[in-house]
Amino acid sequence: MTALLETRGVWQRFGGLVANSDVSISVGRGEIVGLIGPNGAGKSTLFNLIAGVLPPTQGSIWFDGEDVTNLPAAERCQRGVGRTFQVVKSFETMTVIDNVIVGALVRNTVMREARGKAHEVLEFTGLAARADVLASDLVPAEKRRLEVARALATEPKLLLLDEVLTGLTPTEAQTGVALVRKVRDAGITVLMVEHVMEIVMPLVDRAIVLDLGKVLVEGKPADVVRDPKVIKAYLGD
Ligand code: ADP
Ligand code: MG
Repeated sequence: MTALLETRGVWQRFGGLVANSDVSISVGRGEIVGLIGPNGAGKSTLFNLIAGVLPPTQGSIWFDGEDVTNLPAAERCQRGVGRTFQVVKSFETMTVIDNVIVGALVRNTVMREARGKAHEVLEFTGLAARADVLASDLVPAEKRRLEVARALATEPKLLLLDEVLTGLTPTEAQTGVALVRKVRDAGITVLMVEHVMEIVMPLVDRAIVLDLGKVLVEGKPADVVRDPKVIKAYLGD
């Protein structure tokens, strides 16, 4: 069976700056893959290329056996690429349930069905008791969970998580880790960007390290953390 996601020789240039340089990665169905690397390594850029927010300067993106390089973000979402977004201001003035309904409307055009799906996702993510509060009244950890909930409501095959565990207390981060496992157990493949190695390494099946826009190392988390190239990139000498 083919990988669920593949990037083939992907480049992204911003003027003279090379944010992604010949990046070829693959994510298999049912995997949790961690995308790690120092600040500015090109992780968020690669997510934007996968989600279709940006067209790559060069290279191709394959999802579920098809070349999606030229498909817009909304079409990729329809095909099952789900991602977290930062909670933007306009969403802050909406209730938690309405935020999740926005995601659910991607697949359910009947409002009653979208609302039903949103309730189901709020149960799944542990936010049911907060359904009717304004998103602006959530604590930071709950806002992160709401981003995940909205992405899940689009019923993705692949969930892209960009630093959803960063900046949380250790207890909140562990709750987040449990949620990521639950997502995978529900049959959803996960590609997650995380800066904090201690959190992400015990969680992922495979880790891919980006540095200066390139894939530096990939493999089992235990091998990756011991790799001298990775240690050097993180210590920054
Ligand atoms: P990471 O997520 O690994 O911290 P990013 O992908 O955000 O890294 O950024 C990689 C590099 O690309 C950085 O040098 C950043 O400043 C640059 N960059 C990202 N987005 C843009 C953009 N839209 N325009 C210009 N430069 C950008
Ligand atoms: Mg980033």
